Amino acid sequence: ATPTAVMVGTGVGASQGVLIKGGQALESAHKVSCIVFDKTGTLTIGKPVVVNTRILNSMVIREFYELVAATEVNSEHPLAKATVEYAKKMKEDEENIIWPEAENFVSITGQGVKAIVKNKKIIVGNKSLMRENNIEIPVEAQEALEEAEGMAHTGIIVSIDEEVAGIISISDPLKPGARQAISILKAMKIESIMVTGDNWGTAKSIAKEVGIDTVVAEAKPEMKAEKVKELQSSGHIVAMVGDGINDSPALVAADVGMAIGAGTDIAIEAADIVLMKSNLEDVITAIDLSRTTFTRIR
Ligand code: ADP
Ligand code: MG
Repeated sequence: ATPTAVMVGTGVGASQGVLIKGGQALESAHKVSCIVFDKTGTLTIGKPVVVNTRILNSMVIREFYELVAATEVNSEHPLAKATVEYAKKMKEDEENIIWPEAENFVSITGQGVKAIVKNKKIIVGNKSLMRENNIEIPVEAQEALEEAEGMAHTGIIVSIDEEVAGIISISDPLKPGARQAISILKAMKIESIMVTGDNWGTAKSIAKEVGIDTVVAEAKPEMKAEKVKELQSSGHIVAMVGDGINDSPALVAADVGMAIGAGTDIAIEAADIVLMKSNLEDVITAIDLSRTTFTRIR
């Protein structure tokens, strides 16, 4: 393609909300044979809501959520926002909601958060985070987690002073059009894979809903990038579609990194292409644009 054709292609993309950061990305897009999708915020809407809470100690729900919100209010994670929104509803009678102070807050990317609130050690996150903190998951909690996962919800674990205090079940539905985009890609002979930091149960339920056969779950950020590299060394030209900080290494590793416009700044910076409308149909728009720019008869 001529520089003019690339400029035209990039311009058409921009007018459709597909920002292409350079000629190389536009050129590579039509060669893609495999696409790795992040789950949360990419295949799903990314605005999760709390749908159920199972408290396993003697705490009342308001007290439980106060500790959760005080910790999670410091996190940017969509799941954290869901818990804080839910906790707020319990305080609607209060004019200014002030959460108790959280000391020593730490966020462990892809796993959860920790803090000291009201002299209690709070840990909110997934099973691997509990494992790393030597917190045992009782049978009741395990059952609540499995129930959530079977419904494609994410079950997050709340530990207070080293004991599991409750399970919060959070729902994040698929984006409209996600299923169709995957099926069009399949017809284009492009393989779709889902890689997520979420647990296996939830991941498999969502994959089934969206029509993706290959899943990698409980993947830390480095593992997402590793998966991309593994596919590349097996001969694939790989695109990665993601929205989170945790997707950045994989976005960089991919032949074509595509960020969801509504995603984090770090993901947008790491990507070659930004899907401003945050929908998955535009993955196909980008590939089509590349095809028309680079496979046109000259
Ligand atoms: P994804 O790859 O699906 O975008 P992440 O890698 O961001 O997911 O998170 C993986 C898992 O880690 C979540 O499903 C959740 O169980 C846990 N997690 C991460 N951040 C938080 C948080 N702030 N609060 C609770 N759980 C969290
Ligand atoms: Mg995500």
